[in-house]
Amino acid sequence: MIKQPSITIIGGGPGGYVAAIRAAQLGADVTLVEKKKLGGTCLNVGCIPTKVLLHTAEIYKMLERSNELGLAVGMVKIELLALMTRKKYVVDKLINGVDLLMRTNGIKVIYGTASFENPKEIKVKHNDGKIKTIKSDYYILATGSKPYKPPIEGIDFPGVITSTEALDITEIYDSMIIVGGGVIGVEFASIYASFGCNVTIVEMMPEILPNMDEEMVNILKRKLIKDGIQILNSAKVIKIVNEGSGLNVIINRNGLEIKINAHKVLVAVGREINTMGLGLENTAVKMERSKIIVNDKLETNDKIIYAIGDCTGINMLAHVASAQGIIAAENIMGLDVKMDYKTVPSCIYTTPEMASVGLTENQARAKGYELNIGKFPLVGNGKSIIIEETEGLIKVISEKKYGEILGLHIVGPRATDLIAVGALALRLEATVDEIISTIHAHPTIGESILEASLDTKNLAIHIPAKTF
Ligand code: FAD
Ligand code: NAD
Repeated sequence: MIKQPSITIIGGGPGGYVAAIRAAQLGADVTLVEKKKLGGTCLNVGCIPTKVLLHTAEIYKMLERSNELGLAVGMVKIELLALMTRKKYVVDKLINGVDLLMRTNGIKVIYGTASFENPKEIKVKHNDGKIKTIKSDYYILATGSKPYKPPIEGIDFPGVITSTEALDITEIYDSMIIVGGGVIGVEFASIYASFGCNVTIVEMMPEILPNMDEEMVNILKRKLIKDGIQILNSAKVIKIVNEGSGLNVIINRNGLEIKINAHKVLVAVGREINTMGLGLENTAVKMERSKIIVNDKLETNDKIIYAIGDCTGINMLAHVASAQGIIAAENIMGLDVKMDYKTVPSCIYTTPEMASVGLTENQARAKGYELNIGKFPLVGNGKSIIIEETEGLIKVISEKKYGEILGLHIVGPRATDLIAVGALALRLEATVDEIISTIHAHPTIGESILEASLDTKNLAIHIPAKTF
């Protein structure tokens, strides 16, 4: 019998545990080393707990206007203790699920911190201080990332927190300044503002969510502002001062120095890659600062070492980490596959949600495409009216010659689920005609994708005729 390769995976987040399962499915002898808990950032302090809080925040806001939905609801109150218990319940349930998947796939899980002793072996230091050496044919690095705290004066004051601490809510603060208007910034702004905290986002770029389609960002921004969130763009934090009455954040905005005060400051300016202490200097792995350099097959410069997920710094998303994990495992097991980032969706779980796949309008124009853009505002969509969530837009970006879909952008309810349609359209190189000839169920929000596709040809059914 041919001996199957042994693979050791370092890190049990959505990159590492998915790579482990795929490698085991292909017959590898798999060991996974995790220093904390299975599920990594995503399950423990990332995607899952934030969405538990966002879900409750959304229902809370909806119940506040229950009379519009024909309901008479008594006083609605947030029970923080119960919410924290529920968050833990959801996280634990999913971690137990990953543990079950490890056991049923015959994957050995070792708890401890791994580092390379030499190019062929790792040392695992267990929490009880014991050390074990492991030698495998291949390694997959999936060590993820942690919150980044930039070198700003006052950043280490108590009260200056990161997303990890912001998930453990023991009281509703009067006010919070969020430094960074990226995905973490707006999701936490949505949570805290819904619970009654005065939130100010400070973003150094001219716009929040700088990588998303500008027009769509404007719609979300309008709603965030309507919900009481203050947004200071083109604003750079100079220092944080603790003057007794909360924290003062000194900001430079268009050359002017402004002082704003809050109870807490949440720093959400990106993430730092976990490669320190991994002993990569003992291998041939090439790095660019703390990022591990990989090619489309997820190979590093060292023939027996692959890297996936946040530690590659390519696109810090759980679904990217998992997709890379599958590609790495398959390549090690003799398949010849490459990562294609074209269909990666970006999702923001605010109310309304925002989701995007493919090129933004500006990116498509910069690439020289002649475009046909179709839009459908949700105010014209039956289901949106039924659920009383009409603030939103669907935008289809297609190129003129064949009508090929280049991008789909959605702000509105269910956006994060609906975006799968756009990802599939891009994978299949679908045209707007193919969406148009597909029958969409009524009444659904998804119908608006059909309408927006029709609008690329000025043929939307539920938009008043332009000749009227
Ligand atoms: P991680 O999930 O970070 O896992 C790495 C694991 O490696 C950790 O468990 C760590 O303990 C372990 N480890 C590190 N070093 C060692 C070592 N030396 N030895 C042993 N083990 C080690 N992404 C989305 O797609 N959707 C979302 O909604 C979303 N929401 C987020 C919300 C927040 C607040 C945050 C912070 C992130 C969010 N993300 C989201 C990003 C997502 O969590 C990450 O992209 C994803 O977890 C990366 O997976 P990974 O496997 O690369 O790393
Ligand atoms: P980010 O890179 O998305 O946003 C950081 C923001 O901070 C940027 O807009 C940047 O311009 C701004 N910024 C940087 N330095 C600043 C400063 N000194 N002052 C003011 N603004 C400053 O990073 P993030 O929001 O911390 O998220 C980290 C990662 O986690 C992202 O890659 C994201 O993809 C992932 N994540 C994803 C989701 C999701 O998919 N829903 C949710 C949360 C986090």
